[in-house]
Amino acid sequence: MIIFKEPDAISKSLFAKRQLNKSIGFVPTMGALHAGHLQLISQAHAQNDVVACSIFVNPAQFNDQADFEKYPSTIERDIRHLEEAGCDVLLLPDVKSIYPNGFHQPQVYDLGALETRLEGHYRPGHFQGVCRVVHRLMNIVNPDKLYLGQKDFQQCMVIQRLLKIIGSRATIVISPTLREPDGLAMSSRNVRLSQEGRKKAPAIFQILDEIRKNIRDYPPAMLKAEAVTKLSAVGFKVDYVEIAAAETLDALDTLNGAKTVVALAAAYLEEVRLIDNIIIRDL
Ligand code: AMP
Repeated sequence: MIIFKEPDAISKSLFAKRQLNKSIGFVPTMGALHAGHLQLISQAHAQNDVVACSIFVNPAQFNDQADFEKYPSTIERDIRHLEEAGCDVLLLPDVKSIYPNGFHQPQVYDLGALETRLEGHYRPGHFQGVCRVVHRLMNIVNPDKLYLGQKDFQQCMVIQRLLKIIGSRATIVISPTLREPDGLAMSSRNVRLSQEGRKKAPAIFQILDEIRKNIRDYPPAMLKAEAVTKLSAVGFKVDYVEIAAAETLDALDTLNGAKTVVALAAAYLEEVRLIDNIIIRDL
């Protein structure tokens, strides 16, 4: 694996590969890699000639400075794992090379309702920051395929919209959420939980799974209220539990003929913000 610090250098290297008709799969990450990230790398490896990954903790997408400062970093380990999983080139840039003019810029991407719903509502400016970095990275890497995780369901929708806005030729491949044996979605932030917190954390998956089991028999409002009560009882501070149409992220009062629904939750446990979702098909 070749490691690049300079965006221009990786661009040139990938340009040369493209001239040779090699397909490029790209996996953007913020590092502290776990098996969920590596699943994306393996999938990109199986489907492309060249796999590019980036590790960049993007300051523009953190609306909470403390969260940014506490974001875990395990770079030596990440490099080893990336090599084993079949990554060919890694971009490891500094903030200045990604944002030569600084990252505090006005909102520029028209994300419609995605901007203010759910994650957008609770993390103002977050998706503008995500778009800013993905736009920049797409210009640098120019991949054929972009690999994303379902764990960040709304982010996948935002990036899909971004690719249209910027006229990107890349297609998005979404991988299912990889979970720990007890159901907890793998996340770089999980290491910040205490032993006690780690034991409680799977409750967020359990309430979503209960929604999945009960969605045909009970109204969404009742299922959501029950889920919030359960999470609060375990010690979570809940941002939201929502049941929405998977295509649009419109909240559902009734199933209203929706065929595919997504149940999503975001909640704090010990100051660590956890998110998760389950897609419920064939309703
Ligand atoms: P991050 O480093 O958290 O920005 O994540 C980089 C990519 O990995 C994003 O597309 C995430 O959705 C994806 N990802 C994170 N956690 C998981 C997981 N548990 N399973 C699958 N993909 C994941």
